[in-house]
Amino acid sequence: MVNNIKELPAILLIDIHKSYGVNESKVDALKNINLEIAKGEFLALCGPSGSGKSTLLNILSGIDKPSAGSTIFLDKALNDLNENQLSFIRSKHLGFIFQFFNLIPVLSAFDNVYYPLILNGNYNKKEAKERSLYYLDSVGISHLGNRKPGQLSGGQQQRVAIARALAHNPEVVVADEPTGNLDLATGEAFLDLLMKINEETKTTFIVSTHSTQLKDRAKRVIEIKDGELVYDSAQ
Ligand code: ADP
Ligand code: MG
Repeated sequence: MVNNIKELPAILLIDIHKSYGVNESKVDALKNINLEIAKGEFLALCGPSGSGKSTLLNILSGIDKPSAGSTIFLDKALNDLNENQLSFIRSKHLGFIFQFFNLIPVLSAFDNVYYPLILNGNYNKKEAKERSLYYLDSVGISHLGNRKPGQLSGGQQQRVAIARALAHNPEVVVADEPTGNLDLATGEAFLDLLMKINEETKTTFIVSTHSTQLKDRAKRVIEIKDGELVYDSAQ
């Protein structure tokens, strides 16, 4: 029966382990992580600094490889893929938002959104222009498109970063402490915006934070401590 077929998850992590370094300097950054993230979910990943949040986000999005265990990203087993194949999948299906915005300083806000669309070969110039304008508008800053990142506030830069992360219509958006460099009110407004986009587009969002900002507001919260998953509100 069709009803019995469960939709595949956006991301599935099976027995993930990640260590850095060797011998005395070896760090076990992730230990025995099992996690299923459904399509359309808004997941908050909480944990203190150094607990393994960035490592986990990099592994689940195919930026980094685990030392052991399997990552399934949109029904693809990432372990089997080489760097070119991983980078192709990321360019099509993943949007990534960084704590320090990572905008290109010499390009305008518009060009920061536009050029990745052209360079990834996803869209022609006309489509890329339309999409860049649409997404800058949807985050409320189309009027600032000509400004360079240095002429924008932190909150405005982060809005450019989310327009860039969304413009190629990815199924999964990962944000690594996106409010870590914003003041409290601007950070709250930014999180509201992410949640609104999640509601409207059903894009899967995975957002990390070391503060308690998201704990009371995200639909699902998981917590990581010393590389181990210690809490999952869905369980
Ligand atoms: P968080 O994002 O929660 O602050 P990280 O994932 O960055 O945590 O780090 C988890 C642990 O792994 C920390 O002990 C950190 O020092 C270590 N670590 C992270 N990246 C590296 C690396 N490239 N080389 C060595 N150790 C690392
Ligand atoms: Mg981090």
